[in-house]
Formats: sequence, structure tokens, C-alpha cells
Amino acid sequence: MNTKIITAENITEAALCLKAGGMVVFPTETVYGLGGDAFSDDAVDKIYAAKGRPSDNPLIVHICDISQLSLLASSVSPKAALLMEHFWPGPLTLIFDKSPNVGGKVTAGLDTVAVRFPSNETAQRLIAESGTLVAAPSANLSGSPSPTVCSDVIDDLYGRVDYIIDGTGCEIGLESTVVDVSGDRTVVLRPGAVTLEMIQKLIPDAELDAGLIDADSVPKCPGLKYTHYSPKAEVIVVQGDSERVRAYIQSQLDDNPACGVLSYKGSTYSGGAIVLDAGDCMEQYAHNLFSHLRTFDRHGVALVYAEFALEGGMGTAVRNRLYKAAGHHIIEV
Ligand code: AMP
Ligand code: MG
Repeated sequence: MNTKIITAENITEAALCLKAGGMVVFPTETVYGLGGDAFSDDAVDKIYAAKGRPSDNPLIVHICDISQLSLLASSVSPKAALLMEHFWPGPLTLIFDKSPNVGGKVTAGLDTVAVRFPSNETAQRLIAESGTLVAAPSANLSGSPSPTVCSDVIDDLYGRVDYIIDGTGCEIGLESTVVDVSGDRTVVLRPGAVTLEMIQKLIPDAELDAGLIDADSVPKCPGLKYTHYSPKAEVIVVQGDSERVRAYIQSQLDDNPACGVLSYKGSTYSGGAIVLDAGDCMEQYAHNLFSHLRTFDRHGVALVYAEFALEGGMGTAVRNRLYKAAGHHIIEV
């Protein structure tokens, strides 16, 4: 397939292509998305094929105006309305009982539908100009880390999609928070930048899906059961007191210098390891995590030690993605 890389100035031709059944990659405030017409089974099939995504893993439908929700959801509870009022547009996906308008492919046969209203201006313009609603998973090949810069999209999807919009965005760097508001309980199925603590300020009994906490049970978010977000390198998370974490990683590097280190708060290491710093707080860690994992792969690093500290808030989302990237290989020091 001939892929055109454009900027937001030429968004109209990409929007027309999307409406005609094509695939368009666009930036959002979370990660890049791979968009197609949510009401076209053919377009949705093409998205699954381009990503190599298992067809039992449903897609999020993106809207650019609250009024469009009535095309997708059969009912909206007062708690859902409260979350929408506070966090839309933004990095929050809500799960509703689906309306009969929504086809079975985009929801992978579930009777619920995932909906997000992104805040990124390019994403909003693409949806508005396409004249439809946009089904969009993250714009990576299934299994690899989500792309947060255009070059990462090109690595994975060049030749597999019609358009890539090289734009600004992805400030957050991790995928949206997914919250199930279809039943009586309000359950966070995937942690993200809208944190459990922020949600509990509005809905005190909101909870995290048990499958996210307990490594042995299956998460309710179909996508989270797959080994996602993994770079080619093996990743080992080292967590605990920061001095001990550094000392442990340095001792490993002394034996095997040809490693990568994802450092935190600017730690330095001696020897030849490739060290990329995740930043000074969990918001920066989130922003840098996926792009640094891809950079380690570009350097051909086989083993990456990731410094980590258990923190709440955004730390919950970082932990979820990092542990998955590491296949739950965690060393407590
Ligand atoms: P991605 O498109 O890569 O950001 O992934 C979207 C995430 O939302 C995946 O983990 C899906 O399994 C999840 N998701 C989409 N639709 C639903 C739904 N109806 N119920 C629960 N999770 C969903
Ligand atoms: Mg994804």
C-alpha cells in the first residue's frame, strides 16, 4: 500500500480517505491512533489486519462532540455523565452498553462499546472533517509499544495504511484510562492519566479491576490479557529504595556492560551501558517509557534494567505498562 505522510495542513484529504473506508494514523494526547470508519465493517477489518491485532480485542470509537455519544451508547448513567463533564475531552475512555447502530466487529462481539472524546486538536479535526466516528486502536503493530512520535509509527505501519499525519501531541505517552460505566459499579479496567484517585474524588466507590492487581487473574479489558508493549529487548524491573536499586543495577552492569538502563531521576552509571532517563516524576516516566523502549531496540540492546519506584497516581499506569513490557520480571531490592 502507498502510504502518504502529511501534516495537519492537509488533513482534509486524509479525512475524505477515512470516510471512503481508508486508514489514517493521527496524533492524540495519549499515543498515535490508527483510525478508520467505525460504522464500516470493512474499515474495521482493515485496522485489525494492518496491526495484526487479535479480532477478540475491541476498538475504541472516537467522537468530537458529546452529542455523538447517542449514536453509540444505549444509555448514559449519571455517574458516566459526571466523568464526562470532568474529563472529556481528554484521556478517558468509557465503556457503555452499545446501541444497535454499532456493528459487532468494532466491539469484537461484546454488547458494550468503548468511547473516547480526545482533546488533541488534530484528532478532533480529523473526526469532524471525516463526517463519521473513528474507530482507532493505538498505531503500533500488535504487541509492540504504542507509538508516541511519528518515526515510531513509520517503523511499524509504513506501507500498511493510507495516511500518517505527522503532528504534535502524545504529551501523556500512555494509552487512555478505560473505565467501565455500563453496570452499577464503576471499574477502572486500564489505568491511565485520569487516575483512580481523580475518579474517586467524584465517585468514591470506584475501584480498580481486580485483574490488574492480581497477576494470576484475567483482566476484564480484553486487550490487557495479551503480552503488550514489549520491546524486542528483555526488560527487568528493579524496584525498592533508590540507592539500593542503583547499586543492584551497577553490579549487574559490572558483569555485563552491554545492557540498557532506563534510569529514573537522572541516576548515572559507569561502564558502557546505554542509559536513557525516564524523567523526574511519573508523568515524565509515562511520557518517555514507550519511546525509550523503542530506542533501546534501535540500539540492538538485548537486556534493559528499568529503575522503578512504587508511587500512586500516574505511577499506577506506568507500573501496569512497565510490568507488562517486562513480562512481570521484577526484582525487589
Ligand atoms: P488500544 O486501542 O490499543 O488503546 O486498546 C483499547 C483497549 O480498550 C483494549 O485494551 C481493549 O481491550 C479495550 N476495550 C475496547 N472496547 C472494550 C469494551 N467494550 N470492554 C472492555 N474493554 C474494551
Ligand atoms: Mg494498543
